[in-house]
Amino acid sequence: MTPPVDIDAAINEAMPTEEPRQHYTHWSSEVGHPCERFLYHARVDWPARRLPDVHLLKIFEQGRDIEERVRFRLAKCKERFEIPDTGFPLTTLEEYQISGKLDVRIRQNGLVYPGEIKSIQDHAWKRLPSSGSEEVFPNSVVLDALSGGYWRYRMYPAQLQLYIFGEALAKRVSPERALGFFIFVSKATTEEKTIWTELDYEYVEGLLQKAERVNTAIARHTPPDRMPFDLKVCGQCDFQHICLPDVDFGQGAKVLPDEQKYQICRRAWELGLKDILSRDEFAEEASLHKTIKEIGHGEELLIVEGEDGHAEIRGHAVKNGWKHDSFDVFAREGVAA
Ligand code: SF4
Repeated sequence: MTPPVDIDAAINEAMPTEEPRQHYTHWSSEVGHPCERFLYHARVDWPARRLPDVHLLKIFEQGRDIEERVRFRLAKCKERFEIPDTGFPLTTLEEYQISGKLDVRIRQNGLVYPGEIKSIQDHAWKRLPSSGSEEVFPNSVVLDALSGGYWRYRMYPAQLQLYIFGEALAKRVSPERALGFFIFVSKATTEEKTIWTELDYEYVEGLLQKAERVNTAIARHTPPDRMPFDLKVCGQCDFQHICLPDVDFGQGAKVLPDEQKYQICRRAWELGLKDILSRDEFAEEASLHKTIKEIGHGEELLIVEGEDGHAEIRGHAVKNGWKHDSFDVFAREGVAA
């Protein structure tokens, strides 16, 4: 029997779409991107930027919802600290053509501290340390703590460091206590973990120099060199189609960023590593393999990108249809089961 209506399709079609947004400046959230050429394209070729698909739109929506939830929770802490503003613009780095908007600032005992709210995958969240009332972590520790997760997480410290520096320039934070904080939120449970960190001037100096190099490249209409090819970064780059039009991501390969499908592959791979399966696991593995075949149907090489790795599903055409050959999962170092 055919269902009366395809609800999933209706929801997807009703999702609000995004328009390309003009980049007059570097967005602070992107200055930590590993590729200077990306920063150049983001400013110069913004109309050509690849727009998020429905999968990504839903992830962004979830991030905004979680951020709102955390603001709501913070607003209930008025007795402990004041929240002077949220969504506060960063205006002190105009000279470097960097702009941004702080998620939140709190004030206590006359001192102001900028903060960023980031929702992340539960397994990455679990590995993070927490400051509690005890510890302020150096920026290097925060970078290390985030390095085992999704590659974009490593851009977060740059954003917060620029905010702390911007606030220091505006003399809104004390030079001796130029601190900021992340509130990391598990996407699975919405639990928070706050990490306090201090201004890392040397690191910020590197970011400012990078912004200036890209600004010079823009003025000269000469894109910076490409970063060494990295499937994770280039494969998800919004300017891949203009930067690497001739790059073959593999014979007949297609790159599909899809966390849900990646997790299906990853779970099947984890079950495949087990010596003995329970009855339920045996049934689960069979069902996952069937789904993986469906995901890869019609693609010689489908690269399914997830936050902590990627899966490769291979197949080839046969006389009467399609034959699934294999699948592999390449979890990122430090995350692999
Ligand atoms: S495709 Fe790779 S090299 Fe080109 S701009 Fe994007 S990240 Fe940089």
